[in-house]
Amino acid sequence: MSATETATLPDFAPIPREALGPALNEQGYYVGRVERNLYYVTDGTYMCAFLTTSDGVVVLDAPPTLGNNIQRAIDEIAAANGVSNKVTHLIYSHHHSDHVGAASLFDKNAARIGHEETRTLLLRDNDPARPPNEETFQDQANLVIGGEHINLAFHGPNHSPDNILIHLPDHDTMMLVDICNPGWVPIYRSNLSEDIPGYLEAPANALAYEWTHFIGGHMGRLGKRDDLALHQQYMADISESSRTAIDTVDPTPYFVKYGENFWAALKGYLDECAATTAAPVIEKYTGVLAAADVFTEDVSFEVMQSIRLDLGYGAQVHP
Ligand SMILES: [Zn+2]
Repeated sequence: MSATETATLPDFAPIPREALGPALNEQGYYVGRVERNLYYVTDGTYMCAFLTTSDGVVVLDAPPTLGNNIQRAIDEIAAANGVSNKVTHLIYSHHHSDHVGAASLFDKNAARIGHEETRTLLLRDNDPARPPNEETFQDQANLVIGGEHINLAFHGPNHSPDNILIHLPDHDTMMLVDICNPGWVPIYRSNLSEDIPGYLEAPANALAYEWTHFIGGHMGRLGKRDDLALHQQYMADISESSRTAIDTVDPTPYFVKYGENFWAALKGYLDECAATTAAPVIEKYTGVLAAADVFTEDVSFEVMQSIRLDLGYGAQVHP
């Protein structure tokens, strides 16, 4: 892209500094302690975690953008603490390639653990980069590895059909990926989520547990309970604003203008609903959540569709 073209690109509001994480090292990652022997690794946009135990290292997700930097981070921490750097367990948050697409880098004999639907979807996808988890669970799995507790729970589909809660009670930590990006709004359709009612409900499920530190799978810094609560409020504001838009936006001008081209009329009407939904939310969250002015209209569109289609709001039966 030429310099002239760059100059014509739209401007967006500045990013609040607290949305950003620590500086990356020369290899392009940062590894930091969450609590005790639990660490997080980030490249600024993706985040995963690992736990060093007396039985070996447990890796929680393996994003391909971090790739071999995950083992580098483990080596760095293991050397500093004089513990084993051997990865013996991998836990998958969900089947998506952008969070577990580096899973094949680790020992093929390491135990791979995840939801039963994650296994089903990985078998379907048949991607050599993502070996299907051999160990599965349905509703809940309470693991003890090297004396450390890791509790896995499935509360139903949300972002994906298989996305789970990973609670580490001994480390005061909750890992829930692709729901809340601490400091940032979700991208596109609520972080490209398949089940919007499940996505909207997920923060409450996580907040029902006791924890202090939050690993959301994205961006450069750890989250706190306040980050999840703020995200929850942002989504609630979009839901409420959607209802107002459905109640108030008048489709008539679009149908008058486009006549038999029903799709043109529908697009005009629904796009106006999304813009109307987003406007007050963008105003409220600019300077609070990074990129509120970039993605709120996209997120609003899908939430508004879910309120119409999943909840039946505004639906009228022909008399
Ligand atoms: Zn995902």
